[in-house]
Amino acid sequence: MSSSGRGRRGWSFCSTGSKWPLGGEVTVKKVLIIGAGLAGVSAGCYAQMNGYSSEVFEMHDVAGGVVATWRRNGYLVDGGIHFLMGHRSGTPINAIYKELGIDQTDLYPTMTTFIRFTDEPTGLSIDISNDLEAAKQALMARFSDDRRTIEEIFRGAQKIRRSGGLYEMGLEKAPELMSLGDRLGSTWKARKMVKFMMGRYARPMTEVVREVKDAALKRLILNLFSPQAPEWLVMSVLAMVEDGQIGLISDGCTGFMRPMVERYQALGGVFHFRSRVVKIVVDGGKAVGVRLEDGSEHKGDIVISAADGRSTIYGMLEGRYADERIEERYRAWNPGASLVTVSLGLDRTFQGEPPLQVLALGEPLTSYGSPIGIASLRILNYGTVFAPPGKTLVQVLFEGDWEYWCEMSKDRKAYDASKASLAWDALRIVESQYPGVSGSAEVVDVSTPYTYWRYTGNDHGSIMGWSPPTDQMLKTMPRTLPGLDNFYMVGQWSMPGGSVPTCIASGRQAVQVLCRKDKKVFSLRGAVNPPE
Ligand SMILES: Cc1cc2nc3c(=O)[nH]c(=O)nc-3n(C[C@H](O)[C@H](O)[C@H](O)COP(=O)(O)OP(=O)(O)OC[C@H]3O[C@@H](n4cnc5c(N)ncnc54)[C@H](O)[C@@H]3O)c2cc1C
Repeated sequence: MSSSGRGRRGWSFCSTGSKWPLGGEVTVKKVLIIGAGLAGVSAGCYAQMNGYSSEVFEMHDVAGGVVATWRRNGYLVDGGIHFLMGHRSGTPINAIYKELGIDQTDLYPTMTTFIRFTDEPTGLSIDISNDLEAAKQALMARFSDDRRTIEEIFRGAQKIRRSGGLYEMGLEKAPELMSLGDRLGSTWKARKMVKFMMGRYARPMTEVVREVKDAALKRLILNLFSPQAPEWLVMSVLAMVEDGQIGLISDGCTGFMRPMVERYQALGGVFHFRSRVVKIVVDGGKAVGVRLEDGSEHKGDIVISAADGRSTIYGMLEGRYADERIEERYRAWNPGASLVTVSLGLDRTFQGEPPLQVLALGEPLTSYGSPIGIASLRILNYGTVFAPPGKTLVQVLFEGDWEYWCEMSKDRKAYDASKASLAWDALRIVESQYPGVSGSAEVVDVSTPYTYWRYTGNDHGSIMGWSPPTDQMLKTMPRTLPGLDNFYMVGQWSMPGGSVPTCIASGRQAVQVLCRKDKKVFSLRGAVNPPE
């Protein structure tokens, strides 16, 4: 991957008269993009396809953001995307993956078992497979007093699947550009889905479990996806599982990202790595450039921030363009969960074991801030890149307490000791499921919320942006700031809750908005597989 290195001091680029790689000498606008995560690189690709000349400024030395992998003694630690929604053809999001060349279906095995849930206090262990009817029947047989709730969730998922509206996420067109006709059309397409998103199913899972009598079932239902997620979202994920539209990424999350990075460069886009933006330069109410940590300034016609929202608005723009609504959001909304991930390189195979497992612990872990009652096991047995032959990378993931890890990081020795202690706890947890495994551990790596923050700048080390109140989940957020022209925000902080599809689509949508403003027709010229 090439990098143009550190920028020079002073205004370094001319904003007009550049060459567009797909055409002749034309006057093009320069787009400066902050952050080379999924959203930033997506914005860059579509900017290039539409005749803009773009440059991406990334503080780290590789592209990917939270989509990151790193090597440890022959193992590839995968720090990102657990599963990919819409990995097979036939959905609107897959059509976008195709444009960027990331629809590598052969590399994304379909999940047949979504999760194995194991409840240590009661000994329950159950696989939630892509046969939802079988999972429902098994649960109803075991928890006969809670049949109503089980029926509601699983039948709801099956109904959503049959509704035909499951993949109508409205990502193809920027909401800002939707006419009344578009809105009516999109509401019509999604009408069968919309009814699930309103009323009863809009309640969070924490509310759903209030009516559940059995404690083990409560723990299972809360951890089917996320305890804070609304019921319709959990039902939708289950529906996608049944539909075979949830895939694993067998060449690692950076393998997923690679074709997009290559496409961006092939389209003439430029990366500047090790280039932390400290200020967005504004002149006459317009964003006109970025200033890097080394003091150099780069001039452009448009600035897109694909970086953390808080540091963009309150750091790079010093809070000058935050109105009351923005202030309120940053005061009242919580950043989404962050993780502590213990990655274990194990000298043994785990053939046939479900890649995602959730364990309700018999004894919560109490030494790492807020008590930890749930551990997720990720067994990366579905790809050859994660471990040498005959060996397996296994991860134990815990929800991370930001305050705790941030405080610990101030004392390196104490921080390392906490990480080491948690690694032992993780090994003990894997041992409880796979007796004898401890002796095969040959690599240990621990990342904390502080690690995520340090590497990507995401507030509180959040892995998915906001954790919005459930009634705000469907709201669109403005991606511009009042009083600031030629500036856009994309990525996981520019919408309520991140994820691969929405982050990639947000970069595409920002360029659609740019095109409209410049009276251009949005083009897919140079896309890998444009629609016919
Ligand atoms: C462990 C994990 C599991 C996940 N699992 C899934 C999943 O199963 N399915 C799913 O759909 N999604 C999943 N996600 C979420 C999804 O990966 C993210 O929502 C998405 O990748 C975020 O992309 P982004 O471009 O918005 O942000 P980021 O990836 O955070 O990119 C922002 C970039 O900006 C850079 N930056 C920040 N500040 C500056 C600055 N001042 N100057 C220059 N550069 C800067 C950062 O270094 C970073 O590269 C997961 C995420 C994680 C971490």
